[in-house]
Amino acid sequence: MYPKSFERLIECFQLLPGVGAKTAERYAFMMLDAPQEQVELFAQALISCKNDIKRCRICGNISDQDECPICQNENRNPRMICVVQSPKDVIAMEKMQEYAGVYHVLNGLISTSRGIMPEDLNIDALLERISPETEEVIIATNATIEGETTALYLDKLLSGKGVLVTRIAHGLPMGGHLDYADELTLIKAFEGRKSLK
Ligand SMILES: [Zn+2]
Repeated sequence: MYPKSFERLIECFQLLPGVGAKTAERYAFMMLDAPQEQVELFAQALISCKNDIKRCRICGNISDQDECPICQNENRNPRMICVVQSPKDVIAMEKMQEYAGVYHVLNGLISTSRGIMPEDLNIDALLERISPETEEVIIATNATIEGETTALYLDKLLSGKGVLVTRIAHGLPMGGHLDYADELTLIKAFEGRKSLK
């Protein structure tokens, strides 16, 4: 048996996705052998990320301010809203440097198998954002069953709101995740977006 505090550290690492007992043990030893300063930086980064990061009150993206830099940027076109699953997808979309609209981050996808329902997602705020000025809502969820289910749900919800709803084309392979797609594939998918009708 290891000392209690060491066991506790191993347990903490095991909370990370894909980290089993052996890897967690290796990480714990790595931390034990690391310089004091580095370990303190690591611990501090964990705490301050939890304390400082909030959700943008407009789009739901992570931000250290009430409104994220994209929502605050007057050069972005607020009449075009691109709906994504997570903040990682915003980063993926921004990398292609082709999109000048704004985003809406759902923070999840509808999944009946995992019990995630529309009310668990950041959907109400999306409906509130839609105004007569809104021209297009681009649904850029992953090409997975959950991504498709969510896209169809949103399309139905937004029909009759007088706004064009499009879905990015999936040159993305079926089962594809936005944040794994290379930039060119993503640009193609974006350019080939179609109305869901
Ligand atoms: Zn925002």
